[in-house]
Amino acid sequence: MYPQRPAEFEYKRPASLDEAIGLLAENGDTRPLAGGHSLLPMMKLRLAEPATVVDIGRIPGLDGIEADGDGLRIGALATHASVAASELVREKCRVLATTAEGIGDRQVRNRGTIGGSLAHADPGADYPTVVTALGATVVVRGPNGELEIAADGFFTGVFTTALAQGELVTAVRVPSAQKAAYLKHRHPASGYAVVGVACVVGTDEARVVVGGVTGTPVLIAVSPVEAEAIEAVAEELPDALSGALSDTYASGEYRVHLAQVLAKRAIKAAFAAA
Ligand SMILES: Cc1cc2nc3c(=O)[nH]c(=O)nc-3n(C[C@H](O)[C@H](O)[C@H](O)COP(=O)(O)OP(=O)(O)OC[C@H]3O[C@@H](n4cnc5c(N)ncnc54)[C@H](O)[C@@H]3O)c2cc1C
Repeated sequence: MYPQRPAEFEYKRPASLDEAIGLLAENGDTRPLAGGHSLLPMMKLRLAEPATVVDIGRIPGLDGIEADGDGLRIGALATHASVAASELVREKCRVLATTAEGIGDRQVRNRGTIGGSLAHADPGADYPTVVTALGATVVVRGPNGELEIAADGFFTGVFTTALAQGELVTAVRVPSAQKAAYLKHRHPASGYAVVGVACVVGTDEARVVVGGVTGTPVLIAVSPVEAEAIEAVAEELPDALSGALSDTYASGEYRVHLAQVLAKRAIKAAFAAA
């Protein structure tokens, strides 16, 4: 029987980003809380037992979605529902809005945040795959100031990222993309991607990214941008996806098969997108 309640912890609710960063720097056993849809279940299962939880959910100015040059800057606290509903996101990068629309259920979309999803780095999460394909940048603030980390290097393993203790994701910067698609095989209970494949066709290169199969999104960039070369990616996927994860729902072998099927469909859908 799993424990249904978290271990005891201290709760802090900073009113500003600087205050939050100060609190997170105070000791190494402190975790930020955003939407709580991944952290709280982990705490109830005692897979996470932070001594202090720093609730960043009401820090003003972290949930904005705005134009950033030709692309977008999405605040870490933007919920999946607000990304899905944003006309600006639909205009500049429709695939991100449709991805957000397909996350979990209504409650998860209303509470869960893009920053929390990226920081949590669940292999079955949708945003990590899509932002990697888009060539996005994760904006991070910590005790030493601000830095930007390419999504391609941000996810380092199962539930692990390039974030150092005490650092917060504050935003993600996403280039605009029209020819893009993301398809997933949804887990029937949760909606998580058993396998998800994103394809973004740019002028200089096409990027195909597979999520859910190994610990991190796997990027395969193809240049020049020719349909046949990109479609060949699907055939070569088993080599790129060694160490596929297995669980009670899907074996590693089945995941690789799904990745090949979804990659072919995602590539076609990206080329067909307006
Ligand atoms: C039933 C269910 C179904 C789901 N289905 C899907 C799905 O289909 N697809 C999908 O992608 N996800 C799914 N999720 C996960 C959901 O999207 C979560 O909301 C998301 O993974 C975490 O976001 P959060 O804001 O809730 O983060 P939290 O749970 O608050 O935090 C998650 C982790 O990130 C850290 N963190 C949070 N914010 C920051 C920040 N700004 N900077 C640094 N660290 C931070 C926390 O300390 C914690 O370690 C599902 C969750 C549930 C409960």
